[in-house]
Amino acid sequence: MLEKKYNKEYCIGLLKEKQKSLQSQGIIRYPKRSDFEERDVVAIKAFFGPWPRALEIAGIKPPREINEQAKEEKKLKKKRAKIERIKNAEKEKAIIDLALSEGFAKAKIINTEQIVFNPAFRPYCEENLCGQYAKNYSCPPDCGTPKEMEERVLNYKNALVFESQFIIEDLTDKERTKQAKAWHNSAMQRVIKKLQDEGFDGFMIGASGCSLCSPCKLVNKESCPFPKLKFSCMSAYCIYVKDLADKCGMNYEYKNNVLSLFGMYVYN
Ligand code: SF4
Repeated sequence: MLEKKYNKEYCIGLLKEKQKSLQSQGIIRYPKRSDFEERDVVAIKAFFGPWPRALEIAGIKPPREINEQAKEEKKLKKKRAKIERIKNAEKEKAIIDLALSEGFAKAKIINTEQIVFNPAFRPYCEENLCGQYAKNYSCPPDCGTPKEMEERVLNYKNALVFESQFIIEDLTDKERTKQAKAWHNSAMQRVIKKLQDEGFDGFMIGASGCSLCSPCKLVNKESCPFPKLKFSCMSAYCIYVKDLADKCGMNYEYKNNVLSLFGMYVYN
Protein backbone atom coordinates (compact mmCIF):
# COMPACT_ATOMS: atom_id res chain seq x y z
CA MET A 1 0.00 0.00 0.00
CA LEU A 2 1.32 3.43 -0.97
CA GLU A 3 2.18 5.73 1.94
CA LYS A 4 -0.11 8.80 2.07
CA LYS A 5 1.69 12.11 1.52
CA TYR A 6 0.09 14.57 3.84
CA ASN A 7 0.16 18.26 3.03
CA LYS A 8 -2.45 21.06 3.32
CA GLU A 9 -3.96 20.48 -0.14
CA TYR A 10 -4.24 16.76 0.49
CA CYS A 11 -6.02 17.32 3.84
CA ILE A 12 -8.45 19.85 2.31
CA GLY A 13 -9.12 17.31 -0.46
CA LEU A 14 -9.88 14.62 2.15
CA LEU A 15 -12.43 16.86 3.89
CA LYS A 16 -14.08 18.00 0.65
CA GLU A 17 -14.32 14.48 -0.67
CA LYS A 18 -16.00 13.29 2.53
CA GLN A 19 -18.46 16.21 2.42
CA LYS A 20 -19.33 15.31 -1.19
CA SER A 21 -19.83 11.68 -0.28
CA LEU A 22 -22.13 12.60 2.66
CA GLN A 23 -24.21 14.87 0.42
CA SER A 24 -24.52 12.18 -2.26
CA GLN A 25 -25.98 9.87 0.41
CA GLY A 26 -28.44 12.56 1.47
CA ILE A 27 -26.72 12.99 4.88
CA ILE A 28 -26.96 16.56 6.04
CA ARG A 29 -24.04 17.24 8.36
CA TYR A 30 -20.40 18.23 8.30
CA PRO A 31 -17.68 15.58 8.15
CA LYS A 32 -16.76 14.36 11.67
CA ARG A 33 -13.46 13.14 13.04
CA SER A 34 -14.90 9.64 13.26
CA ASP A 35 -15.41 9.62 9.46
CA PHE A 36 -11.61 9.45 9.00
CA GLU A 37 -8.70 7.26 9.91
CA GLU A 38 -6.87 8.41 12.99
CA ARG A 39 -3.76 9.45 11.08
CA ASP A 40 -5.90 11.60 8.73
CA VAL A 41 -7.38 13.34 11.77
CA VAL A 42 -3.93 13.94 13.26
CA ALA A 43 -2.67 15.42 9.98
CA ILE A 44 -5.72 17.64 9.49
CA LYS A 45 -5.46 19.01 13.03
CA ALA A 46 -1.72 19.48 12.69
CA PHE A 47 -2.17 21.67 9.62
CA PHE A 48 -5.31 23.57 10.59
CA GLY A 49 -5.79 23.38 14.36
CA PRO A 50 -9.25 22.68 15.84
CA TRP A 51 -11.67 20.61 13.71
CA PRO A 52 -14.21 23.43 13.08
CA ARG A 53 -11.38 25.66 11.88
CA ALA A 54 -10.28 22.95 9.42
CA LEU A 55 -13.84 22.74 8.08
CA GLU A 56 -13.88 26.51 7.65
CA ILE A 57 -10.54 26.53 5.78
CA ALA A 58 -11.79 23.75 3.50
CA GLY A 59 -14.80 25.97 2.69
CA ILE A 60 -17.25 23.41 4.13
CA LYS A 61 -18.42 25.45 7.10
CA PRO A 62 -19.13 29.20 6.95
CA PRO A 63 -16.40 31.28 8.61
CA ARG A 64 -16.95 32.05 12.30
CA GLU A 65 -17.70 35.77 11.74
CA ILE A 66 -20.69 34.80 9.58
CA ASN A 67 -21.85 32.38 12.27
CA GLU A 68 -21.58 35.11 14.88
CA GLN A 69 -23.53 37.48 12.65
CA ALA A 70 -26.23 34.85 12.08
CA LYS A 71 -26.44 34.24 15.84
CA GLU A 72 -26.79 37.97 16.47
CA GLU A 73 -29.55 38.24 13.86
CA LYS A 74 -31.38 35.27 15.40
CA LYS A 75 -31.19 36.91 18.82
CA LEU A 76 -32.53 40.18 17.45
CA LYS A 77 -35.36 38.38 15.64
CA LYS A 78 -36.34 36.63 18.89
CA LYS A 79 -36.30 39.94 20.75
CA ARG A 80 -38.45 41.63 18.10
CA ALA A 81 -40.95 38.72 18.20
CA LYS A 82 -41.18 39.07 21.99
CA ILE A 83 -41.86 42.82 21.71
CA GLU A 84 -44.50 42.08 19.05
CA ARG A 85 -46.15 39.49 21.34
CA ILE A 86 -46.30 42.01 24.21
CA LYS A 87 -47.75 44.68 21.91
CA ASN A 88 -50.37 42.24 20.60
CA ALA A 89 -51.35 41.18 24.11
CA GLU A 90 -51.79 44.85 25.09
CA LYS A 91 -53.84 45.49 21.93
CA GLU A 92 -56.06 42.45 22.64
CA LYS A 93 -56.63 43.57 26.22
CA ALA A 94 -57.65 47.04 25.05
CA ILE A 95 -60.13 45.55 22.54
CA ILE A 96 -61.66 43.23 25.13
CA ASP A 97 -61.91 46.08 27.68
CA LEU A 98 -63.72 48.13 25.04
CA ALA A 99 -66.29 45.34 24.51
CA LEU A 100 -66.79 44.89 28.27
CA SER A 101 -67.21 48.63 28.77
CA GLU A 102 -70.17 48.50 26.34
CA GLY A 103 -71.94 46.03 28.63
CA PHE A 104 -70.98 42.64 27.20
CA ALA A 105 -70.67 39.87 29.79
CA LYS A 106 -67.60 38.38 28.10
CA ALA A 107 -65.38 38.99 25.09
CA LYS A 108 -62.51 36.99 23.67
CA ILE A 109 -60.27 37.14 20.62
CA ILE A 110 -59.58 33.91 18.77
CA ASN A 111 -58.02 32.92 15.48
CA THR A 112 -60.68 32.34 12.81
CA GLU A 113 -59.08 28.94 12.10
CA GLN A 114 -60.39 27.81 15.51
CA ILE A 115 -64.00 28.33 14.44
CA VAL A 116 -65.91 25.18 13.51
CA PHE A 117 -68.33 25.49 10.58
CA ASN A 118 -70.92 22.84 9.86
CA PRO A 119 -73.06 23.08 6.71
CA ALA A 120 -75.47 20.62 8.36
CA PHE A 121 -76.84 23.64 10.28
CA ARG A 122 -78.18 25.25 7.10
CA PRO A 123 -81.47 23.24 7.07
CA TYR A 124 -82.34 24.88 10.43
CA CYS A 125 -82.44 28.25 8.60
CA GLU A 126 -84.61 26.64 5.92
CA GLU A 127 -87.12 25.69 8.64
CA ASN A 128 -87.64 29.45 8.86
CA LEU A 129 -88.42 29.66 12.57
CA CYS A 130 -87.18 33.27 12.57
CA GLY A 131 -89.35 34.12 9.56
CA GLN A 132 -86.45 35.69 7.66
CA TYR A 133 -85.62 32.88 5.23
CA ALA A 134 -85.60 34.34 1.68
CA LYS A 135 -86.88 37.63 3.14
CA ASN A 136 -83.57 39.24 4.10
CA TYR A 137 -80.39 39.77 2.07
CA SER A 138 -78.36 38.73 5.13
CA CYS A 139 -80.17 35.39 5.49
CA PRO A 140 -80.12 32.20 3.43
CA PRO A 141 -80.39 31.63 0.60
CA ASP A 142 -79.47 35.21 -0.45
CA CYS A 143 -76.49 35.58 1.95
CA GLY A 144 -74.48 32.84 0.18
CA THR A 145 -73.80 29.12 0.43
CA PRO A 146 -72.30 27.67 3.64
CA LYS A 147 -68.96 27.33 1.81
CA GLU A 148 -69.00 30.96 0.66
CA MET A 149 -69.88 32.12 4.18
CA GLU A 150 -67.06 30.09 5.70
CA GLU A 151 -64.55 31.44 3.18
CA ARG A 152 -65.66 34.97 3.95
CA VAL A 153 -64.74 34.45 7.60
CA LEU A 154 -61.49 32.63 6.88
CA ASN A 155 -60.31 35.53 4.72
CA TYR A 156 -59.73 37.31 8.02
CA LYS A 157 -57.36 36.32 10.80
CA ASN A 158 -59.08 37.31 14.06
CA ALA A 159 -62.52 37.03 15.55
CA LEU A 160 -63.61 39.12 18.51
CA VAL A 161 -66.35 37.00 20.09
CA PHE A 162 -69.03 38.78 22.13
CA GLU A 163 -71.32 37.24 24.75
CA SER A 164 -74.19 39.25 26.20
CA GLN A 165 -76.48 37.92 28.94
CA PHE A 166 -80.15 38.65 29.63
CA ILE A 167 -82.60 37.53 32.29
CA ILE A 168 -85.50 36.11 30.31
CA GLU A 169 -87.95 33.99 32.22
CA ASP A 170 -89.89 32.75 29.23
CA LEU A 171 -87.98 31.83 26.08
CA THR A 172 -91.19 31.91 24.07
CA ASP A 173 -91.45 35.63 24.86
CA LYS A 174 -90.51 36.73 21.35
CA GLU A 175 -90.74 40.44 22.09
CA ARG A 176 -88.25 40.16 24.98
CA THR A 177 -85.76 38.05 22.99
CA LYS A 178 -86.11 40.43 20.04
CA GLN A 179 -85.23 43.35 22.33
CA ALA A 180 -82.24 41.43 23.71
CA LYS A 181 -80.96 40.69 20.18
CA ALA A 182 -81.46 44.32 19.18
CA TRP A 183 -79.44 45.48 22.22
CA HIS A 184 -76.70 42.96 21.46
CA ASN A 185 -76.41 44.02 17.82
CA SER A 186 -76.43 47.75 18.61
CA ALA A 187 -73.77 47.35 21.30
CA MET A 188 -71.63 45.37 18.86
CA GLN A 189 -72.04 48.10 16.26
CA ARG A 190 -70.80 50.69 18.76
CA VAL A 191 -67.69 48.62 19.54
CA ILE A 192 -67.07 47.89 15.86
CA LYS A 193 -67.35 51.57 14.92
CA LYS A 194 -64.58 52.37 17.42
CA LEU A 195 -62.43 49.48 16.16
CA GLN A 196 -62.87 50.55 12.55
CA ASP A 197 -61.92 54.11 13.49
CA GLU A 198 -58.69 52.59 14.85
CA GLY A 199 -58.09 50.82 11.52
CA PHE A 200 -59.27 47.28 12.36
CA ASP A 201 -60.89 46.34 9.08
CA GLY A 202 -63.51 43.60 9.18
CA PHE A 203 -67.20 42.73 9.33
CA MET A 204 -69.86 41.89 11.88
CA ILE A 205 -71.71 38.66 12.53
CA GLY A 206 -74.76 39.41 14.64
CA ALA A 207 -76.94 37.68 17.20
CA SER A 208 -79.65 37.86 14.54
CA GLY A 209 -79.83 38.74 10.86
CA CYS A 210 -79.64 42.31 9.62
CA SER A 211 -82.40 44.62 10.84
CA LEU A 212 -81.12 47.94 9.56
CA CYS A 213 -84.26 48.32 7.41
CA SER A 214 -87.71 47.17 8.35
CA PRO A 215 -88.63 45.22 6.39
CA CYS A 216 -85.46 44.27 4.51
CA LYS A 217 -85.47 45.76 1.00
CA LEU A 218 -85.42 42.25 -0.40
CA VAL A 219 -89.11 41.91 0.41
CA ASN A 220 -89.91 44.54 -2.24
CA LYS A 221 -87.08 43.43 -4.53
CA GLU A 222 -85.18 46.69 -3.96
CA SER A 223 -81.43 46.82 -3.61
CA CYS A 224 -79.76 46.88 -0.21
CA PRO A 225 -78.92 50.49 0.79
CA PHE A 226 -76.17 49.44 3.24
CA PRO A 227 -74.20 46.63 1.61
CA LYS A 228 -71.17 47.36 3.81
CA LEU A 229 -73.12 47.51 7.06
CA LYS A 230 -75.50 44.60 6.62
CA PHE A 231 -74.73 41.62 8.80
CA SER A 232 -75.72 37.97 8.91
CA CYS A 233 -76.20 35.91 12.06
CA MET A 234 -74.06 33.06 13.39
CA SER A 235 -76.55 30.49 12.01
CA ALA A 236 -76.32 31.90 8.49
CA TYR A 237 -72.56 31.25 8.71
CA CYS A 238 -73.23 27.69 9.97
CA ILE A 239 -70.99 28.38 12.96
CA TYR A 240 -71.01 25.73 15.69
CA VAL A 241 -71.77 28.23 18.46
CA LYS A 242 -71.58 25.80 21.39
CA ASP A 243 -68.06 24.80 20.42
CA LEU A 244 -67.12 28.47 20.00
CA ALA A 245 -68.56 29.35 23.42
CA ASP A 246 -66.65 26.47 25.03
CA LYS A 247 -63.40 27.56 23.39
CA CYS A 248 -63.95 31.11 24.62
CA GLY A 249 -64.91 30.08 28.16
CA MET A 250 -68.42 31.45 27.62
CA ASN A 251 -71.81 30.30 28.81
CA TYR A 252 -73.87 28.62 26.06
CA GLU A 253 -76.65 26.87 28.02
CA TYR A 254 -79.88 28.65 28.98
CA LYS A 255 -79.85 28.20 32.76
CA ASN A 256 -81.43 30.01 35.73
CA ASN A 257 -83.34 32.22 33.27
CA VAL A 258 -80.07 33.54 31.82
CA LEU A 259 -80.01 33.69 28.04
CA SER A 260 -76.63 34.25 26.39
CA LEU A 261 -76.39 35.76 22.91
CA PHE A 262 -73.32 35.62 20.69
CA GLY A 263 -71.82 37.63 17.90
CA MET A 264 -68.42 38.26 16.35
CA TYR A 265 -66.34 40.91 14.70
CA VAL A 266 -64.08 39.26 12.15
CA TYR A 267 -61.07 41.45 11.43
CA ASN A 268 -57.42 41.73 10.47
S1 SF4 B 1 -79.32 46.77 5.25
FE1 SF4 B 1 -81.54 46.64 4.98
S2 SF4 B 1 -81.75 45.80 2.93
FE2 SF4 B 1 -79.64 45.42 3.51
S3 SF4 B 1 -79.69 43.38 4.39
FE3 SF4 B 1 -79.97 44.80 6.07
S4 SF4 B 1 -82.16 44.97 6.34
FE4 SF4 B 1 -81.80 44.09 4.31
